[in-house]
Amino acid sequence: CGIVGYVGRSASGHTAEEVVLDGLRRMEYRGYDSAGVAFVTPDGRLASAKKAGKLASLLDELGEHPLPDALTGIGHTRWATHGGPTDANAHPHVSDGGRLALIHNGIIENFAELKDEMDGDEYLSETDTEVVAHLLAREYRVDNDLAAAMRRTTARLEGAFTLLAVHADLPGTVVGARRNSPLVIGLGDGENFLGSDVAAFIAYSKEAVEIGQDQIVTITPSSVDITDSDGNPVSGNAYHVDWDA
Ligand code: GLU
Repeated sequence: CGIVGYVGRSASGHTAEEVVLDGLRRMEYRGYDSAGVAFVTPDGRLASAKKAGKLASLLDELGEHPLPDALTGIGHTRWATHGGPTDANAHPHVSDGGRLALIHNGIIENFAELKDEMDGDEYLSETDTEVVAHLLAREYRVDNDLAAAMRRTTARLEGAFTLLAVHADLPGTVVGARRNSPLVIGLGDGENFLGSDVAAFIAYSKEAVEIGQDQIVTITPSSVDITDSDGNPVSGNAYHVDWDA
């Protein structure tokens, strides 16, 4: 339901956890039944946590089992469509031996067909999303290019989605994609943001860039790259967000 992504440097003065949790708080107004986060540490470890219920339940979990400090992260609030509101069905969904994490807004119409086509993955949830994590992991293993893997993955999906992914191999990178569901970039100085809504990053940036239908975005602390469904670079539509945080 709400999606946020962050990449920064220690000089930016924020941690991924602080930015991601702030974004999730600001999107609570949309309604949700579960929440989760994943972070990639500078030394290449992926850590995640997710809980059914209000953000407060996730915060309790993070209080009891703190995640390592990170400058790269993604966060999700879920409004369940496939699979009830349980901890296991909350996002992120993890694949590639715990090295890749994916969050999703929307519905993957052909998830059952994709699941039937793919053998050998262990499913931990009843969501339509988890198969996309496994598909993305398979595609990533082809050429170790997460944006290209996202492009090939989304080409096989039917339905509506905003997707964000991080991989332990790539501290300092978040990759996103969208179709029939919104995704906006927030530009920073030595840090960049992604959100399903500008509320996700309004406390940190008011310079937004819209991502078009079926485009893929890669953010690092110093770059934003958008490509179309053929992999050609495109420039997004930039605008200034005119309201106060
Ligand atoms: N269809 C996905 C699920 O049920 C995502 C729901 C959402 O947009 O939050 O897990």
